[in-house]
Amino acid sequence: MNRFDTEAIVLSSWDCGESDRVVALYTETNGSIRAIAKGARNSRKRFAHTFEPGSLVTLSCIDRGSLVRLDACKLIEPYLSLRIDVERWGYSGLVSEIVLEMVPEREPQRDLFHLLRETQAHLSEDRDPVNVVLLFMLRFQDIMGYMPGLDGCAVCRRPLGDSMRWYWRINQGQLLCVEHRPPGDDFLALDLGTLLLIHQCRKLPPDRIWRLRISRDRKTPLLHAMLNWIRAQIRKDLKSLKLLQQIRSAQQKATQREHLGMDGSV
Ligand SMILES: [Zn+2]
Repeated sequence: MNRFDTEAIVLSSWDCGESDRVVALYTETNGSIRAIAKGARNSRKRFAHTFEPGSLVTLSCIDRGSLVRLDACKLIEPYLSLRIDVERWGYSGLVSEIVLEMVPEREPQRDLFHLLRETQAHLSEDRDPVNVVLLFMLRFQDIMGYMPGLDGCAVCRRPLGDSMRWYWRINQGQLLCVEHRPPGDDFLALDLGTLLLIHQCRKLPPDRIWRLRISRDRKTPLLHAMLNWIRAQIRKDLKSLKLLQQIRSAQQKATQREHLGMDGSV
């Protein structure tokens, strides 16, 4: 039986039995864990507002081998603006789900904890949440060891600087030059500028990646390619994507209604 205290990001939580709650967290010292908060639903004061996904908390836990018991949990930062903006909330949920699905339990990586904490903070305040999610995914892929070298053609070894156009086969972990462009459409076409930005995202100190801005026309294809790569890894669809699609279609409908309203009033 080991007691440990750590900071953590709440990923998800759900009811268990009549009065308990299970909380999935990414902790600084113990990596991804699921902990049980005994009697949490009877005594809301003890864990007041601390199980909201995306929040930064401090925990006091007892590790009993197969079970981690949550003794105390204190809210440090709720990132409130995530909770009043549905789109930011959706992206925060996507980030949490990626960690829940792809990171093995109890394999602590401090780099990943810091990335997750900074991602939630930037999602709550950055003007462009899609840019934040993309930077998270690129760095996450690198931390988890999935990111290929991307420093030249996998076939002829032509270096990056030799060409402006490149093709990334994300699922195969290969970068290819124009000459070795793969058949079909199982690749992401990238310009040299975007590839250099991806390099920076991997190499810059963690607190400096958030200044990087992926160009407007590259964001959507890069996001789709990264999400396809995740789907191939976990072999299922991400639930939070459905929510994001619903949010986007509701926003589009609202915009259309506004336009119609304006037209009608003229
Ligand atoms: Zn080549």
